[in-house]
Amino acid sequence: MSLVRYAKHAAGGHPREVVLLKGLPCVWSRCAFCDYIDDNTTDEAWIQRVADETLAQVTGEFGRLQVVNSGSIQELPPGVQAGIRDLLKTKHITEFWTESYWAYRKRFDATRAFFGVDTHLFLGVETFDDDLRNGVLNKSMHWTGPDEVAAATDAICLMVGFKGQTRDMIRRDIDLLLTKFRYGIVNLFTENRLSHGLMDDEIKAWFCEEYAGLADEPNVDVLWTNTDLGVG
Ligand code: SF4
Repeated sequence: MSLVRYAKHAAGGHPREVVLLKGLPCVWSRCAFCDYIDDNTTDEAWIQRVADETLAQVTGEFGRLQVVNSGSIQELPPGVQAGIRDLLKTKHITEFWTESYWAYRKRFDATRAFFGVDTHLFLGVETFDDDLRNGVLNKSMHWTGPDEVAAATDAICLMVGFKGQTRDMIRRDIDLLLTKFRYGIVNLFTENRLSHGLMDDEIKAWFCEEYAGLADEPNVDVLWTNTDLGVG
Protein backbone atom coordinates (compact mmCIF):
# COMPACT_ATOMS: atom_id res chain seq x y z
CA MET A 1 0.00 0.00 0.00
CA SER A 2 1.45 3.38 -0.92
CA LEU A 3 1.48 6.01 1.80
CA VAL A 4 0.39 9.62 1.49
CA ARG A 5 3.56 11.57 2.29
CA TYR A 6 2.52 15.21 1.91
CA ALA A 7 -0.48 17.00 3.35
CA LYS A 8 -1.71 20.40 4.43
CA HIS A 9 -3.12 20.47 7.93
CA ALA A 10 -4.95 23.77 7.83
CA ALA A 11 -7.33 23.09 10.73
CA GLY A 12 -6.63 24.12 14.30
CA GLY A 13 -4.51 26.85 15.75
CA HIS A 14 -1.31 25.92 13.92
CA PRO A 15 -1.81 25.38 10.21
CA ARG A 16 1.14 23.65 8.64
CA GLU A 17 2.45 21.48 5.89
CA VAL A 18 3.12 17.91 7.04
CA VAL A 19 5.47 15.44 5.42
CA LEU A 20 6.01 11.79 6.18
CA LEU A 21 9.57 10.86 5.28
CA LYS A 22 11.20 7.48 5.29
CA GLY A 23 13.82 7.05 8.01
CA LEU A 24 16.51 4.74 9.29
CA PRO A 25 15.31 2.18 11.87
CA CYS A 26 14.05 3.61 15.15
CA VAL A 27 16.71 3.24 17.83
CA TRP A 28 14.21 1.54 20.14
CA SER A 29 11.75 -0.15 17.74
CA ARG A 30 10.03 -2.03 20.54
CA CYS A 31 7.00 0.00 21.64
CA ALA A 32 4.12 -2.43 21.98
CA PHE A 33 1.74 -0.68 19.59
CA CYS A 34 4.16 0.65 16.99
CA ASP A 35 3.79 -0.43 13.41
CA TYR A 36 4.97 2.92 12.00
CA ILE A 37 8.45 1.44 11.95
CA ASP A 38 7.35 -0.78 9.06
CA ASP A 39 8.23 2.29 6.97
CA ASN A 40 11.85 2.35 8.26
CA THR A 41 14.67 1.12 6.04
CA THR A 42 18.47 0.91 6.01
CA ASP A 43 18.47 1.81 2.30
CA GLU A 44 19.73 5.39 2.40
CA ALA A 45 19.29 5.93 -1.34
CA TRP A 46 15.60 5.08 -0.95
CA ILE A 47 15.32 7.43 2.04
CA GLN A 48 16.91 10.21 0.00
CA ARG A 49 14.62 9.57 -2.97
CA VAL A 50 11.50 9.76 -0.83
CA ALA A 51 12.80 12.90 0.86
CA ASP A 52 13.57 14.57 -2.47
CA GLU A 53 10.13 13.77 -3.91
CA THR A 54 8.25 14.74 -0.77
CA LEU A 55 10.11 17.86 0.26
CA ALA A 56 9.78 19.17 -3.32
CA GLN A 57 6.06 19.59 -2.61
CA VAL A 58 6.60 21.93 0.33
CA THR A 59 5.64 25.52 -0.52
CA GLY A 60 6.14 27.23 2.83
CA GLU A 61 2.69 28.78 2.56
CA PHE A 62 1.90 28.47 6.29
CA GLY A 63 5.39 29.29 7.52
CA ARG A 64 5.28 26.10 9.56
CA LEU A 65 6.43 22.58 8.63
CA GLN A 66 6.01 19.27 10.45
CA VAL A 67 8.27 16.36 9.53
CA VAL A 68 7.52 12.84 10.73
CA ASN A 69 9.64 9.85 9.82
CA SER A 70 8.29 6.91 11.83
CA GLY A 71 11.03 7.41 14.38
CA SER A 72 13.16 10.34 15.52
CA ILE A 73 14.43 13.25 13.44
CA GLN A 74 17.95 12.15 14.36
CA GLU A 75 17.24 8.96 12.40
CA LEU A 76 17.17 10.80 9.10
CA PRO A 77 20.55 10.63 7.34
CA PRO A 78 22.62 13.83 7.69
CA GLY A 79 21.99 14.78 4.04
CA VAL A 80 18.23 14.65 4.52
CA GLN A 81 18.44 16.68 7.71
CA ALA A 82 20.54 19.27 5.90
CA GLY A 83 17.99 19.31 3.06
CA ILE A 84 15.22 20.09 5.55
CA ARG A 85 17.29 22.84 7.16
CA ASP A 86 17.94 24.42 3.75
CA LEU A 87 14.28 24.13 2.78
CA LEU A 88 13.20 25.92 5.97
CA LYS A 89 15.45 28.78 4.97
CA THR A 90 14.58 29.00 1.27
CA LYS A 91 10.83 28.73 1.87
CA HIS A 92 10.93 31.23 4.75
CA ILE A 93 9.49 28.69 7.18
CA THR A 94 9.91 30.00 10.70
CA GLU A 95 8.52 27.15 12.79
CA PHE A 96 9.53 23.50 12.58
CA TRP A 97 7.76 20.59 14.29
CA THR A 98 9.23 17.12 14.42
CA GLU A 99 9.60 14.11 16.70
CA SER A 100 12.30 12.70 18.90
CA TYR A 101 12.54 9.77 21.27
CA TRP A 102 13.67 10.17 24.90
CA ALA A 103 16.98 8.36 24.27
CA TYR A 104 18.09 11.40 22.23
CA ARG A 105 17.30 13.94 24.96
CA LYS A 106 20.95 14.94 25.46
CA ARG A 107 20.97 15.95 21.79
CA PHE A 108 17.73 17.95 21.87
CA ASP A 109 19.47 21.32 22.20
CA ALA A 110 21.86 20.51 19.36
CA THR A 111 18.99 19.30 17.18
CA ARG A 112 17.02 22.49 17.76
CA ALA A 113 20.10 24.60 17.04
CA PHE A 114 20.85 22.67 13.84
CA PHE A 115 17.58 23.56 12.15
CA GLY A 116 18.09 27.23 12.91
CA VAL A 117 14.41 28.17 13.28
CA ASP A 118 11.92 27.85 16.14
CA THR A 119 12.03 24.02 16.48
CA HIS A 120 9.70 21.91 18.60
CA LEU A 121 10.60 18.29 19.33
CA PHE A 122 7.50 16.24 20.04
CA LEU A 123 8.21 13.48 22.51
CA GLY A 124 5.87 10.46 22.46
CA VAL A 125 5.15 10.42 26.19
CA GLU A 126 1.80 8.65 25.59
CA THR A 127 1.05 8.79 29.33
CA PHE A 128 2.78 10.07 32.44
CA ASP A 129 1.69 6.95 34.31
CA ASP A 130 5.05 5.19 34.56
CA ASP A 131 3.69 1.66 34.88
CA LEU A 132 1.46 2.01 31.84
CA ARG A 133 4.00 3.78 29.71
CA ASN A 134 6.76 1.30 30.36
CA GLY A 135 4.94 -1.82 31.54
CA VAL A 136 2.09 -1.91 29.01
CA LEU A 137 3.30 0.21 26.10
CA ASN A 138 6.97 -0.82 26.52
CA LYS A 139 8.21 2.69 25.79
CA SER A 140 11.36 2.34 27.94
CA MET A 141 11.17 6.03 28.86
CA HIS A 142 12.21 6.74 32.45
CA TRP A 143 12.32 10.09 34.22
CA THR A 144 11.99 11.57 37.67
CA GLY A 145 8.68 13.23 36.77
CA PRO A 146 6.89 15.51 34.30
CA ASP A 147 9.16 18.44 35.18
CA GLU A 148 12.17 16.60 33.82
CA VAL A 149 10.30 16.08 30.55
CA ALA A 150 9.20 19.72 30.46
CA ALA A 151 12.81 20.79 30.95
CA ALA A 152 13.83 18.76 27.90
CA THR A 153 11.07 19.72 25.47
CA ASP A 154 7.99 21.90 25.16
CA ALA A 155 5.97 19.53 22.98
CA ILE A 156 4.56 16.07 23.66
CA CYS A 157 2.25 13.44 22.21
CA LEU A 158 -0.24 11.62 24.40
CA MET A 159 -2.18 8.48 23.59
CA VAL A 160 -5.70 7.77 24.78
CA GLY A 161 -7.70 4.56 24.67
CA PHE A 162 -5.60 1.62 25.70
CA LYS A 163 -6.13 -1.09 28.29
CA GLY A 164 -5.21 -0.14 31.83
CA GLN A 165 -5.84 3.58 31.35
CA THR A 166 -8.30 5.06 33.82
CA ARG A 167 -10.27 8.28 33.63
CA ASP A 168 -8.11 9.78 36.39
CA MET A 169 -4.91 8.93 34.53
CA ILE A 170 -6.21 10.63 31.41
CA ARG A 171 -7.34 13.69 33.37
CA ARG A 172 -3.86 13.96 34.91
CA ASP A 173 -2.15 13.55 31.52
CA ILE A 174 -4.28 16.27 29.91
CA ASP A 175 -3.76 18.58 32.90
CA LEU A 176 0.00 18.11 32.65
CA LEU A 177 -0.09 18.75 28.92
CA LEU A 178 -2.03 21.97 29.35
CA THR A 179 -0.03 23.29 32.28
CA LYS A 180 3.55 22.28 31.52
CA PHE A 181 3.89 22.15 27.74
CA ARG A 182 3.47 24.57 24.89
CA TYR A 183 2.22 22.12 22.26
CA GLY A 184 0.48 18.76 22.43
CA ILE A 185 -0.84 16.16 20.07
CA VAL A 186 -3.36 13.71 21.52
CA ASN A 187 -3.71 10.51 19.52
CA LEU A 188 -6.74 8.30 19.92
CA PHE A 189 -5.50 4.75 20.03
CA THR A 190 -6.03 2.90 16.76
CA GLU A 191 -5.74 -0.87 16.62
CA ASN A 192 -3.13 -2.21 14.24
CA ARG A 193 -1.48 -5.51 13.43
CA LEU A 194 0.78 -5.35 16.51
CA SER A 195 -1.52 -3.94 19.14
CA HIS A 196 -4.22 -6.57 19.12
CA GLY A 197 -6.15 -6.51 22.39
CA LEU A 198 -4.57 -3.26 23.63
CA MET A 199 -7.45 -0.97 22.70
CA ASP A 200 -10.10 0.02 25.25
CA ASP A 201 -13.24 1.18 23.40
CA GLU A 202 -14.98 2.26 26.57
CA ILE A 203 -12.30 4.68 27.74
CA LYS A 204 -12.01 6.04 24.20
CA ALA A 205 -15.75 6.70 24.07
CA TRP A 206 -15.63 8.40 27.47
CA PHE A 207 -12.72 10.61 26.37
CA CYS A 208 -14.45 11.63 23.13
CA GLU A 209 -17.44 12.86 25.11
CA GLU A 210 -15.63 14.29 28.13
CA TYR A 211 -12.94 16.06 26.12
CA ALA A 212 -14.86 17.07 23.02
CA GLY A 213 -13.81 20.66 23.74
CA LEU A 214 -10.11 19.85 23.77
CA ALA A 215 -9.99 20.21 20.00
CA ASP A 216 -10.71 23.93 20.50
CA GLU A 217 -7.51 24.41 22.51
CA PRO A 218 -5.27 26.34 20.12
CA ASN A 219 -2.09 24.54 21.14
CA VAL A 220 -3.51 21.01 21.12
CA ASP A 221 -4.27 18.80 18.14
CA VAL A 222 -6.60 15.89 18.82
CA LEU A 223 -6.17 13.19 16.20
CA TRP A 224 -9.32 11.14 16.32
CA THR A 225 -7.80 8.67 13.79
CA ASN A 226 -4.16 8.00 13.00
CA THR A 227 -4.41 9.57 9.55
CA ASP A 228 -5.99 12.84 10.74
CA LEU A 229 -2.86 14.78 9.84
CA GLY A 230 -3.46 13.75 6.25
CA VAL A 231 -0.35 11.58 5.89
CA GLY A 232 0.06 7.86 6.46
S1 SF4 B 1 10.08 5.17 19.82
FE1 SF4 B 1 8.45 5.82 18.38
S2 SF4 B 1 9.02 4.96 16.39
FE2 SF4 B 1 10.27 3.90 17.95
S3 SF4 B 1 9.10 2.03 18.43
FE3 SF4 B 1 8.47 3.60 19.92
S4 SF4 B 1 6.66 4.62 19.03
FE4 SF4 B 1 7.70 3.45 17.39
